[in-house]
Amino acid sequence: MINIDGYQNVLKACKEKNVTLVAVSKTKPVEDIITLYNLGQKEFGENYVQELLEKYQQLPKDIHWHFIGHLQTNKVKQVVEFVYLIQGVDSLKLLKAINKQSEKINKITNCLLQIHIAQEETKFGLDENELNEIIGEFENLKMKNVNIVGLMGMASFTNDENQIRKEFKYLKSLQQKFSTVNFQLSILSMGMTADYKVAIEEGSNMIRVGSLIFGSRN
Ligand SMILES: *Cc1c(COP(=O)(O)O)cnc(C)c1O
Repeated sequence: MINIDGYQNVLKACKEKNVTLVAVSKTKPVEDIITLYNLGQKEFGENYVQELLEKYQQLPKDIHWHFIGHLQTNKVKQVVEFVYLIQGVDSLKLLKAINKQSEKINKITNCLLQIHIAQEETKFGLDENELNEIIGEFENLKMKNVNIVGLMGMASFTNDENQIRKEFKYLKSLQQKFSTVNFQLSILSMGMTADYKVAIEEGSNMIRVGSLIFGSRN
């Protein structure tokens, strides 16, 4: 069941601050996506390649699909054509694979680099040194078919708001540190159901919200 009031509230918070709302529809049926689409929602996030491909085929073609999961290099081929933004890029190998496949189909694919900001070991992402390296290599290798347009991160799974705030502040500081006149990390994708308000306060301009809108997942 879609929580329309919840959706409208998040949307309002986003509009006030010029934040893009990505509705995270993973595991949820196409009917729910259509309901939101009919309310004007065009940005949707998915974590699994197969699921994204199936939904792509069934749904209106002006939807922007954000791939927010961990993309395996061997799946790049299947998905590049259909994605608007790949949010979880966390290795040079993956970036190269996206570039190569994009070149083949004559596309420029927008990507976010995923940064590890949480305390938990399990979450994917780059640290600051790796970020520095990847940006350096990206410029050296002159990858013409990918654009690195920003950073993405997930905060710790905790009720400690100070901790979450600290992690978002850190991600914001990396965005500022690594942006130059010729290389703008303009998108800062941070904030989910539990922490999107804090994220917006800390300078997020793209939030990824799932369960608040679509209900909890199994
Ligand atoms: C599932 C997921 C979300 C949405 O999480 P909610 O807590 O349901 O809002 C956001 N970002 C990523 C990377 C996810 O995997």
